[in-house]
Amino acid sequence: MDFDDTPEEATFRAECRRWLAANAELKARPDEVFGSSLDAGARVQAAREWQGRKAAAGFGAITWPQAMGGRGGTPIQEVIFREEEGRYRVPTHVFAVSLGMVIPSVAAHASPEVLARHIGPALHGRELWCQLLSEPGAGSDLGMVRTKAERCTDGPEGQSGWRLNGQKVWTTLAQYADFGLVLARTDPKVPKYEGLTSFFINMRAPGVEVRPIKQSSGEAEFNEVFFNDVFVPDAQRVGAVGSGWKVTLTGLMSERLSIGGTLPSELVRMTYRLMCDQHMGGAPAIADGRMRERLADLYLQHHGLWLQQCRGLTALGKGQAPGPELSVAKIVGARALQDFAYLAIDLKGARGVLAGDDAGDGWEQVERLWHGAASMRIAGGTDEIVKNNVGERVLGLPPEPRSDKGVAFDQLPR
Ligand SMILES: Cc1cc2nc3c(=O)[nH]c(=O)nc-3n(C[C@H](O)[C@H](O)[C@H](O)COP(=O)(O)OP(=O)(O)OC[C@H]3O[C@@H](n4cnc5c(N)ncnc54)[C@H](O)[C@@H]3O)c2cc1C
Repeated sequence: MDFDDTPEEATFRAECRRWLAANAELKARPDEVFGSSLDAGARVQAAREWQGRKAAAGFGAITWPQAMGGRGGTPIQEVIFREEEGRYRVPTHVFAVSLGMVIPSVAAHASPEVLARHIGPALHGRELWCQLLSEPGAGSDLGMVRTKAERCTDGPEGQSGWRLNGQKVWTTLAQYADFGLVLARTDPKVPKYEGLTSFFINMRAPGVEVRPIKQSSGEAEFNEVFFNDVFVPDAQRVGAVGSGWKVTLTGLMSERLSIGGTLPSELVRMTYRLMCDQHMGGAPAIADGRMRERLADLYLQHHGLWLQQCRGLTALGKGQAPGPELSVAKIVGARALQDFAYLAIDLKGARGVLAGDDAGDGWEQVERLWHGAASMRIAGGTDEIVKNNVGERVLGLPPEPRSDKGVAFDQLPR
């Protein structure tokens, strides 16, 4: 594939550039992190406003159909917009789960009334959605979800619906979310994936308790969420009773379609600069063969991931879904980011313990990666789970033995 823009792509890129130049400020440095002086709540608010402006200009959900308020554009156009947006000092990622995973599930399975009420506010950033899947005993294997939804007739004003009880964990941005999509068990008497149903809830409904989890960085990006007899009207069921796994897979597939796994090219340059500036045994670190080997490894990973991304883009350009290269890119990319951050801190020696603000330009990104890269090896499928998938689906290795197949959920050993 030719990686230069086609004439249509070049026209679209020019439109993105014009709009971004008129609506945002360029970053001072490529590695500048948006809103580092803001608290998390203010960053989320800024992201809501930015999403609203993008949506009003037709850049809020480029690949969504026009009937949903999107642009009806191509995945390549989405990639082009993200590339251009990355050069500006604007909040990104806050709506990744809401618009990239949750709303696509809701849109594919909820009633027209639900879509008419909720899609617009989500697209324009007025309402943020979170994804309530993982539980203390159900992460890699969501089939083990134990949060219960039981039919009831004692809702407000005698409404019938469902009572929700249980706990979720690692729910990104739940403390700021307006709505959440919950995967719950409605029938424990059937095999684990068959007894699940999806519902959406108002995050401020009585009985919903959100407890932020403080991370080593000092931030609380994700949360525990408890449901204590939460009443959910049947109109908030998404999809048929028992089809929660199908609804969940829609969201997980949307996540997989997002192109990721590249390493910012400034990381290699930054490592090179650090190796030139930092001294080991009286000489610049770059003079040491072991250090040059690590730099070469980083460069090779960066280049390999770029080639993988090209393969993914080629598939998208031909109207196909990207294949297993994105799984490989996820494993290698997350690992490489973590290795980079550890190496950079080590190279700084004693000054490596300084906080980003004190250690100088460009250090904030290193600090964020040092704290955050490990989570990239877990979110969206741990390294081991992705390797299992690659083994089974790409290499055709025998699948893991599954003793729970066909066994009712309530008969499974705990
Ligand atoms: C930054 C971040 C954001 C997240 N956001 C959300 C969110 O918004 N909503 C949400 O619902 N969840 C979210 N999660 C949770 C995430 O989906 C889970 O952490 C992930 O699926 C792993 O599940 P777990 O933590 O329960 O680990 P477990 O599944 O308990 O795994 C523990 C360990 O066992 C290994 N393991 C498990 N099964 C196998 C196997 N079959 N073969 C080999 N090894 C295995 C795993 O690789 C891991 O090392 C988020 C996680 C992170 C890190």
